[in-house]
Amino acid sequence: MLRFGTAYYPEHWPRERWERDSELMSKAGFNTVRMAEFAWSKLEPEEGKFNFEWLDEAIDIFDEKGIDVVLGTPTAAPPPWLTEKHPEVLPITEDGQIFGPGMRRHYCVNSEVYRDYTREIVSKMAEKFGNDNRIIGWQTDNELGSPVCYCDTCRSKFRNWLRERYDSLEELNDSWGTAFWSHTYTKWSQIPLPNENPSMNPNPSLHLDYKRFFSDSTIEYNRLQTEILKEKSDKWVCHNFMGFYDNFDHYEMCKDLDLATWDHYPTKLRDTYEEVSAGHDLTYGFKERPFWVMEEQCSYLTRDKITATPRPGETRMWTYQSIAHGADGIMYFRWRPCRFGDEQFHGGVLQHDGSLESPAYQEIKQIGEEVRKIGGEIEGTKANSEVAILSPYEQRWSMETYRNHSPYDYQEEIINYYRALFDANINTAFIPKYRDFEDYEVLIAPVLPMMNSSLSSKIEEFVRNGGTFVAGFRTGIKDYNNIVTDQSLPGELKDLFGIEIHDYTSIQENQEIEFVGRNELEGKKYLSRKWADCLEPKSAKTLAQYTEGWPAQENYSAITKNEFSKGQAIYVGSSSDENLYRDLIELLVDSTDVSPIMNSEEGVEVIERSDGQKKFIFVINHTNHRKKTKLDREYKDILGEKILSGNVELEPYGVRVLRE
Ligand SMILES: [Zn+2]
Repeated sequence: MLRFGTAYYPEHWPRERWERDSELMSKAGFNTVRMAEFAWSKLEPEEGKFNFEWLDEAIDIFDEKGIDVVLGTPTAAPPPWLTEKHPEVLPITEDGQIFGPGMRRHYCVNSEVYRDYTREIVSKMAEKFGNDNRIIGWQTDNELGSPVCYCDTCRSKFRNWLRERYDSLEELNDSWGTAFWSHTYTKWSQIPLPNENPSMNPNPSLHLDYKRFFSDSTIEYNRLQTEILKEKSDKWVCHNFMGFYDNFDHYEMCKDLDLATWDHYPTKLRDTYEEVSAGHDLTYGFKERPFWVMEEQCSYLTRDKITATPRPGETRMWTYQSIAHGADGIMYFRWRPCRFGDEQFHGGVLQHDGSLESPAYQEIKQIGEEVRKIGGEIEGTKANSEVAILSPYEQRWSMETYRNHSPYDYQEEIINYYRALFDANINTAFIPKYRDFEDYEVLIAPVLPMMNSSLSSKIEEFVRNGGTFVAGFRTGIKDYNNIVTDQSLPGELKDLFGIEIHDYTSIQENQEIEFVGRNELEGKKYLSRKWADCLEPKSAKTLAQYTEGWPAQENYSAITKNEFSKGQAIYVGSSSDENLYRDLIELLVDSTDVSPIMNSEEGVEVIERSDGQKKFIFVINHTNHRKKTKLDREYKDILGEKILSGNVELEPYGVRVLRE
């Protein structure tokens, strides 16, 4: 059964209303609600005095309507009695300020006091509801990862973490290059936190290790909860992530979880449908199996300002986009906007008045009928892909340590390639570096500054066996301590790419360097953005060459391709506009077995889920204009229950779900 539901906060509404809400949800086709993830002060109103009766009663009311419950542990919002008694659990932000109560997430993941209170409330909830048939699963906390803490506890745990990572202080000094500016440490107690001189960049190796430490701390804090839940409950455990948010390694955390979920707010992102799709694919990759959208936008949002209300059909389109990318659960956020609190204008399925007249309710009710009809068939099928984007968190952290002088924005470089794949209707996976690469035809690493011999050998092996590897500029410039390599660039991958790089330049905002296509890209013209690596081909051939400025005088290449054993390695030495990435993806389609699922007009996404036997093709119009798509063969439209072929019309935000 495909899960379909919403977040419900019984603690925000009078007891008399719960019944009515459960009825309305049932009529909308909901089979699941999430509850309790911010309800600590209602569940434990005084220290050690627990009150689960109200929650028990609420769960009962929904159970009677056939609606199952996902319970959240309430640790994202510590109650006032706790922080009053133990102000030491409050985190310290990067600028040295106490992140005080009054909002949420005001706790340090490393506080042993907070961990004890966490153990207590999670254990009590697990003992009460852990084997309850009305409950199907758990969500730990809510949107972990912030704020990054710099308190005294974190300082002392960080030093212990370093002692485990490095055998000796000498090794740490050597690995961090502390000879620079007289940073050589003679005692572990001298090691600072990276926020101690906020006007300056910290040592890049210190900064990267603090990122690793805070990630490990967050994963450890989550594990504390999953271990209790696994011991005392027979239900699955998930956490709700936030797309490309990167304060901890999501792949690592997912080893402790049964299900990956994420909170999907398209109008809060940079508002491009490609990025929304990328967030789904990223989340799918955390467990490489169907995920849930734990919070699906269905109305306006509020943070800095109130965002636009979704247009008619837009919520339905987002829902099908989620399902198309592998979601087996869709939970709208939230059931009804709260009358009070920070999110009083964060819209929901209903409006504040709770009436059925809400357009979102009417639209979601229609989706509910459709999901009941087709969900069972689709559930469990996979989002397969032949192209993978390598997205290790450490690489991103390494790049962020440049802070004031980073040549690039990690997410933007990833999306440059992703957008071209999206436009070509090619399914894409996001994978960590330890994933087996051999399942893919093409591996793209837009941002890969750090390299070591195990990763370079793995990439070489992949190409030797026939794979195509594509890397962006600045690849392999550092080691895994964030220290610049002393080899000629691109370091350990020189032979694979068949090039050497001895010169490069940052491109300033008012500066442009033209480069033009050669060989397979003959006739194309691009303008460099952000960066220009100056490639000297050895065994590689040139795919693009600089035609302006000193890189042109030296005949430097901008893009090269090297045949390496059975495969090929392409080095993209610069960044440019979308034409470059579109041309590169076309080149990959021509030179590998990767092919688009189907051609479509701009703004129409075509994506596939299958299980080897059944294959579903989703055709999604992301625009508010009518669109046409020409089908490549005959399909059954399982929503309209018609056989379709040839040209198919799509309404504004229209969706077709086709079965082969
Ligand atoms: Zn702390």
